[in-house]
Amino acid sequence: MRTVREVKALRGVVASWKAVGQTVAVVPTMGALHPGHLSLIAAARAGADRVIATIFVNPRQFNKPEDLARYPRTEDRDAGMLATAGVDLLFAPPAEAVYPEGFATSVSVAGLSEGLCGAHRPGHFDGVATVVTKLFLMTGADRAFFGEKDWQQLQIVRRLARDLNIPVAVTGCPTLREADGLAMSSRNTRLSPADRAAAPALFRAMSAAVAAIRRGTPPDEALARARLEVLRAGFSEVEYLELRGAEGLEPLDAPDRPARILAAAWLGGVRLIDNIAIDS
Ligand code: AMP
Repeated sequence: MRTVREVKALRGVVASWKAVGQTVAVVPTMGALHPGHLSLIAAARAGADRVIATIFVNPRQFNKPEDLARYPRTEDRDAGMLATAGVDLLFAPPAEAVYPEGFATSVSVAGLSEGLCGAHRPGHFDGVATVVTKLFLMTGADRAFFGEKDWQQLQIVRRLARDLNIPVAVTGCPTLREADGLAMSSRNTRLSPADRAAAPALFRAMSAAVAAIRRGTPPDEALARARLEVLRAGFSEVEYLELRGAEGLEPLDAPDRPARILAAAWLGGVRLIDNIAIDS
């Protein structure tokens, strides 16, 4: 596996692949890799001739400087994992290569970016949309793989590719979980042992709400109970735990179309997110 840090070198490698008719997939990440990331790499390998992984802790998507400063950075270990997983090229640019002096453009996906995480993390999804657009254009990838773990992000990425006519096919991959149900996340390493033990309560409460709604419990009632269970388990705050349309993310009173429960909650100073389908 080759590592490149400059856009020019990246474009050169991709051009050499495309010249011989090979298809190219990209898997954007912020590093601190875990099996969830590797499942995206496996899907990318199955779906294209060549796979690019990117590692870039994007300053523009962090609305709190301390969150950016604390984000785990483990590039050497990550590079080893990516090479073993069969990645052809790692693109790990410094911030200046992505945002050179005078950078002034922002991509903003109206509507989809506004509620849920967008309401609690001002500017976050503009940062995500801007960097993902740049990664699509810099790599020229034919396919891109994103996790359903970040469901709102996945819908935003699909929309920006469509709206901006970027010729990349976006595939969503299922959320990988620990044995106790906790969604794998780079942030889980920041949980204390006691908080790590409490963390699966989020997925448990969401799953119970899905089961209750399927049995006919009014969603409002099922969601209120789930919020209470999460707080009882030791979480300090539930930012949101809501029923939304799966694609448009519109608030729903009843699951009368493909729908998901999405949640964000704080545990011991760590913000955890999760989402599950109501109809699968
Ligand atoms: P991140 O490094 O957190 O920006 O995540 C990079 C990609 O990995 C995103 O598309 C995430 O949705 C995806 N991802 C993160 N956690 C998981 C997981 N537990 N299962 C599947 N995909 C994941």
